[in-house]
Amino acid sequence: MSSQKIFLFDFDGVIVDGMQEYWRSSLLACEKYLNSPYISIDQKLFKRVPNSFKEIRPWVKYGWEMILIVHEIIKIENPLKNENKDDFINNYYQNCQRILNENSWTAEDLQKILDKSRKYQIDKDFKSWVNLYNPFFEIVNFMKELRKRGIKTGVITTKGKIFAEKILKQLNIFPELIFGYESGTKIKIAEKLTQNYEILGFIEDRKKTLIDIKQNSETSHIPCFLADWGYLKESDRCTLSNEIKLLKLGNLEELVAI
Ligand SMILES: [Mg+2]
Repeated sequence: MSSQKIFLFDFDGVIVDGMQEYWRSSLLACEKYLNSPYISIDQKLFKRVPNSFKEIRPWVKYGWEMILIVHEIIKIENPLKNENKDDFINNYYQNCQRILNENSWTAEDLQKILDKSRKYQIDKDFKSWVNLYNPFFEIVNFMKELRKRGIKTGVITTKGKIFAEKILKQLNIFPELIFGYESGTKIKIAEKLTQNYEILGFIEDRKKTLIDIKQNSETSHIPCFLADWGYLKESDRCTLSNEIKLLKLGNLEELVAI
């Protein structure tokens, strides 16, 4: 094993809270690029993120799913609301597949229009777009502290790399490595990194991803931390295995001692 030390971070829900941006960019994508006959978009919708969207966000793995969710929430007939959201999340994956099929969409096409919507806003008014993200300053400081100690940092996100890079730059953090959805699954990325780095930890707010890391023989030695401040499902906190530690923002200092 190499002596190069690295600490890994998920992006959304770990380094930043981007709820405003997810809603806005997905809604704009629906308005400008989706061409769905089932929705009509009132400009008032841009002002406030509905609770149903916030509550479904912990189930999201890839950005394209957010466009699909927004579409269901703003549908004219039979929209997704707080009252029927449990039916939706109880069969989350199957529902997403069904809605893709019913509308003849592909995940790739939805991801493309989400990226297009982000690019449109960046070209128009970068500052307003980037300000929709609220950083967790404890994490930002932790990343800076690691750098001071000569420990590298890596960000692994299911966002497009270019967007994560722009936001990180704005926060004045420059991780040595940034991987977006273009680089493949998080588990494969982690597997590859183990060949060249000693991975000191991985902070992520999607529990399933950490479970996969722990169950893969190449990556099971990586210390895994579930971000308590991220987009967690209620059940995530109570059903944790010993191998995955629940991490609070206030306990980051303990990790610096590594
Ligand atoms: Mg996340």
